Amino acid sequence: MVTRPAVFDASPRQPWAALTFDDGPDPLWTPRILEALDHAGARATFFVIAPLAVEYRDIVVAAREAGHGIELHCTAHVRHTRCSRREVETDTREGLEMLRSIGIEPRLWRPPWGVLAPWTEEIARDFGLRLAPWSADTHDWRGDPASEMLNGIEPLLGPGSIVLMHDGLGPGSLRRGCQETVALVQPLVALLRSMGCEPAAMFRNERAQWLPAAGIRKAKA
Ligand SMILES: [Zn+2]
Repeated sequence: MVTRPAVFDASPRQPWAALTFDDGPDPLWTPRILEALDHAGARATFFVIAPLAVEYRDIVVAAREAGHGIELHCTAHVRHTRCSRREVETDTREGLEMLRSIGIEPRLWRPPWGVLAPWTEEIARDFGLRLAPWSADTHDWRGDPASEMLNGIEPLLGPGSIVLMHDGLGPGSLRRGCQETVALVQPLVALLRSMGCEPAAMFRNERAQWLPAAGIRKAKA
Protein backbone atom coordinates (compact mmCIF):
# COMPACT_ATOMS: atom_id res chain seq x y z
CA MET A 1 0.00 0.00 0.00
CA VAL A 2 1.39 3.35 -1.06
CA THR A 3 1.43 6.02 1.63
CA ARG A 4 -0.86 8.73 0.41
CA PRO A 5 -0.82 12.38 1.34
CA ALA A 6 -3.44 13.33 3.89
CA VAL A 7 -3.69 16.91 2.73
CA PHE A 8 -4.03 18.83 -0.48
CA ASP A 9 -1.41 21.29 -1.60
CA ALA A 10 -1.36 22.74 -5.09
CA SER A 11 2.35 23.47 -5.22
CA PRO A 12 3.88 22.14 -8.46
CA ARG A 13 5.98 19.51 -6.73
CA GLN A 14 2.91 18.05 -5.10
CA PRO A 15 0.52 17.36 -7.95
CA TRP A 16 -2.56 16.57 -5.97
CA ALA A 17 -6.19 16.97 -6.83
CA ALA A 18 -9.30 17.27 -4.69
CA LEU A 19 -12.56 15.38 -4.94
CA THR A 20 -15.24 17.37 -3.14
CA PHE A 21 -18.81 16.47 -2.24
CA ASP A 22 -21.49 18.96 -1.19
CA ASP A 23 -24.99 18.68 0.32
CA GLY A 24 -24.49 15.58 2.49
CA PRO A 25 -24.35 13.61 4.56
CA ASP A 26 -27.08 11.43 3.12
CA PRO A 27 -27.89 8.16 4.92
CA LEU A 28 -28.10 6.22 1.65
CA TRP A 29 -25.58 7.86 -0.68
CA THR A 30 -22.74 9.08 1.53
CA PRO A 31 -21.84 5.55 2.71
CA ARG A 32 -21.78 4.42 -0.93
CA ILE A 33 -19.51 7.30 -1.91
CA LEU A 34 -17.26 6.43 1.06
CA GLU A 35 -17.17 2.81 -0.04
CA ALA A 36 -16.22 3.81 -3.60
CA LEU A 37 -13.47 6.08 -2.25
CA ASP A 38 -12.25 3.29 -0.01
CA HIS A 39 -12.08 0.86 -2.95
CA ALA A 40 -10.17 3.46 -4.96
CA GLY A 41 -7.85 4.18 -2.00
CA ALA A 42 -8.63 7.89 -2.37
CA ARG A 43 -9.38 10.70 0.09
CA ALA A 44 -11.93 13.43 -0.45
CA THR A 45 -13.51 16.44 1.21
CA PHE A 46 -17.16 16.70 2.25
CA PHE A 47 -18.79 20.12 2.57
CA VAL A 48 -21.64 19.18 4.86
CA ILE A 49 -25.00 20.65 5.75
CA ALA A 50 -24.59 21.02 9.52
CA PRO A 51 -28.02 19.75 10.73
CA LEU A 52 -27.62 16.66 8.54
CA ALA A 53 -24.13 16.12 9.93
CA VAL A 54 -25.58 16.09 13.44
CA GLU A 55 -28.44 13.80 12.40
CA TYR A 56 -26.08 11.36 10.64
CA ARG A 57 -23.17 11.90 12.96
CA ASP A 58 -21.93 8.30 12.66
CA ILE A 59 -21.43 8.69 8.91
CA VAL A 60 -19.48 11.93 9.38
CA VAL A 61 -17.30 10.46 12.12
CA ALA A 62 -16.61 7.38 9.98
CA ALA A 63 -15.65 9.60 7.05
CA ARG A 64 -13.27 11.61 9.18
CA GLU A 65 -11.74 8.49 10.67
CA ALA A 66 -11.16 7.22 7.13
CA GLY A 67 -9.04 10.34 6.49
CA HIS A 68 -11.53 12.46 4.59
CA GLY A 69 -11.98 16.17 5.19
CA ILE A 70 -15.20 17.44 6.77
CA GLU A 71 -15.85 21.14 6.14
CA LEU A 72 -18.73 23.57 6.27
CA HIS A 73 -21.32 24.01 3.53
CA CYS A 74 -24.16 25.67 5.46
CA THR A 75 -26.93 25.31 8.02
CA ALA A 76 -29.73 26.36 5.64
CA HIS A 77 -29.04 25.95 1.90
CA VAL A 78 -29.63 29.58 0.92
CA ARG A 79 -28.09 32.05 -1.52
CA HIS A 80 -26.17 34.70 0.35
CA THR A 81 -27.34 37.28 -2.17
CA ARG A 82 -30.90 36.68 -0.98
CA CYS A 83 -30.09 37.00 2.72
CA SER A 84 -29.00 39.75 5.02
CA ARG A 85 -25.46 39.72 6.33
CA ARG A 86 -26.81 39.07 9.82
CA GLU A 87 -28.78 36.04 8.62
CA VAL A 88 -25.69 34.52 7.03
CA GLU A 89 -23.62 35.26 10.14
CA THR A 90 -26.22 33.45 12.26
CA ASP A 91 -26.37 30.56 9.80
CA THR A 92 -22.57 30.22 9.86
CA ARG A 93 -22.30 30.48 13.65
CA GLU A 94 -25.00 27.85 14.15
CA GLY A 95 -23.44 25.54 11.59
CA LEU A 96 -20.02 25.76 13.21
CA GLU A 97 -21.52 25.15 16.66
CA MET A 98 -23.37 22.07 15.38
CA LEU A 99 -20.22 20.68 13.79
CA ARG A 100 -18.14 21.37 16.88
CA SER A 101 -20.75 19.49 18.94
CA ILE A 102 -19.79 16.35 17.01
CA GLY A 103 -16.06 17.03 17.16
CA ILE A 104 -15.59 18.68 13.76
CA GLU A 105 -13.66 21.95 13.52
CA PRO A 106 -14.05 23.25 9.96
CA ARG A 107 -11.36 25.43 8.39
CA LEU A 108 -12.90 25.72 4.93
CA TRP A 109 -16.28 26.96 3.79
CA ARG A 110 -18.07 26.50 0.51
CA PRO A 111 -21.29 28.55 0.62
CA PRO A 112 -24.36 27.15 -1.18
CA TRP A 113 -24.02 27.25 -4.99
CA GLY A 114 -20.69 29.03 -4.52
CA VAL A 115 -22.68 32.27 -4.49
CA LEU A 116 -21.02 35.04 -2.51
CA ALA A 117 -22.51 38.29 -1.30
CA PRO A 118 -20.19 41.32 -1.12
CA TRP A 119 -19.66 40.59 2.60
CA THR A 120 -19.29 36.78 2.47
CA GLU A 121 -15.48 36.89 2.52
CA GLU A 122 -15.55 39.16 5.57
CA ILE A 123 -17.79 36.69 7.39
CA ALA A 124 -15.40 33.89 6.45
CA ARG A 125 -12.51 35.85 7.93
CA ASP A 126 -14.49 36.66 11.08
CA PHE A 127 -15.09 32.96 11.66
CA GLY A 128 -11.55 31.89 10.77
CA LEU A 129 -12.67 30.13 7.61
CA ARG A 130 -11.32 30.25 4.08
CA LEU A 131 -13.58 29.98 1.09
CA ALA A 132 -13.18 26.81 -0.93
CA PRO A 133 -13.80 27.02 -4.67
CA TRP A 134 -13.88 24.35 -7.34
CA SER A 135 -12.33 24.21 -10.79
CA ALA A 136 -14.23 21.33 -12.43
CA ASP A 137 -18.00 21.05 -12.05
CA THR A 138 -19.48 17.62 -12.83
CA HIS A 139 -23.05 19.00 -12.75
CA ASP A 140 -23.90 15.63 -11.26
CA TRP A 141 -27.19 17.00 -9.89
CA ARG A 142 -28.52 16.71 -13.46
CA GLY A 143 -28.28 12.91 -13.35
CA ASP A 144 -26.02 12.46 -16.39
CA PRO A 145 -24.21 9.12 -16.80
CA ALA A 146 -20.80 8.89 -15.12
CA SER A 147 -19.05 8.45 -18.49
CA GLU A 148 -20.53 11.71 -19.78
CA MET A 149 -19.54 13.56 -16.65
CA LEU A 150 -15.99 12.22 -16.92
CA ASN A 151 -15.71 13.31 -20.56
CA GLY A 152 -17.11 16.72 -19.68
CA ILE A 153 -14.59 17.50 -16.95
CA GLU A 154 -11.52 15.78 -18.42
CA PRO A 155 -10.18 18.96 -20.11
CA LEU A 156 -10.36 20.72 -16.72
CA LEU A 157 -8.38 18.10 -14.79
CA GLY A 158 -4.75 18.32 -13.81
CA PRO A 159 -2.54 19.21 -10.84
CA GLY A 160 -4.46 21.35 -8.40
CA SER A 161 -7.89 20.67 -9.86
CA ILE A 162 -10.85 20.60 -7.50
CA VAL A 163 -13.81 18.52 -8.67
CA LEU A 164 -17.32 19.41 -7.49
CA MET A 165 -19.76 16.56 -6.85
CA HIS A 166 -22.68 15.93 -4.50
CA ASP A 167 -23.35 13.11 -2.06
CA GLY A 168 -26.87 14.28 -1.34
CA LEU A 169 -29.92 15.50 -3.21
CA GLY A 170 -29.81 19.21 -2.52
CA PRO A 171 -32.22 21.92 -3.64
CA GLY A 172 -32.57 22.01 -7.43
CA SER A 173 -31.37 18.44 -7.91
CA LEU A 174 -32.91 16.88 -11.01
CA ARG A 175 -32.01 13.29 -10.15
CA ARG A 176 -33.52 10.69 -7.86
CA GLY A 177 -30.26 9.29 -6.54
CA CYS A 178 -26.49 9.74 -6.56
CA GLN A 179 -25.64 6.41 -8.22
CA GLU A 180 -23.87 8.07 -11.17
CA THR A 181 -21.70 10.03 -8.75
CA VAL A 182 -20.86 6.77 -6.96
CA ALA A 183 -20.02 5.27 -10.38
CA LEU A 184 -17.85 8.28 -11.26
CA VAL A 185 -15.48 7.92 -8.31
CA GLN A 186 -13.35 5.00 -9.51
CA PRO A 187 -12.78 6.15 -13.14
CA LEU A 188 -12.22 9.73 -11.98
CA VAL A 189 -9.57 8.62 -9.49
CA ALA A 190 -7.94 6.47 -12.19
CA LEU A 191 -7.92 9.35 -14.67
CA LEU A 192 -6.41 11.77 -12.14
CA ARG A 193 -3.73 9.24 -11.26
CA SER A 194 -2.94 8.73 -14.96
CA MET A 195 -2.25 12.50 -14.98
CA GLY A 196 0.03 12.14 -11.97
CA CYS A 197 -2.47 13.64 -9.51
CA GLU A 198 -3.32 11.94 -6.28
CA PRO A 199 -6.78 12.77 -4.87
CA ALA A 200 -6.32 14.12 -1.34
CA ALA A 201 -8.45 15.86 1.26
CA MET A 202 -8.38 19.65 0.99
CA PHE A 203 -6.62 21.38 3.80
CA ARG A 204 -6.26 24.98 4.74
CA ASN A 205 -2.84 26.05 3.65
CA GLU A 206 -1.82 29.69 3.53
CA ARG A 207 0.49 29.04 0.59
CA ALA A 208 -1.92 26.99 -1.49
CA GLN A 209 -2.66 28.61 -4.81
CA TRP A 210 -6.05 27.07 -5.39
CA LEU A 211 -7.98 28.91 -2.71
CA PRO A 212 -9.04 31.98 -4.70
CA ALA A 213 -9.48 30.04 -7.97
CA ALA A 214 -12.54 29.38 -10.11
CA GLY A 215 -15.85 28.17 -8.84
CA ILE A 216 -16.89 31.06 -6.68
CA ARG A 217 -19.25 33.56 -8.20
CA LYS A 218 -18.97 36.90 -6.52
CA ALA A 219 -22.06 39.04 -6.67
CA LYS A 220 -21.76 42.68 -7.60
CA ALA A 221 -21.94 45.06 -4.67
ZN1 LIG B 1 -25.07 22.75 -1.96
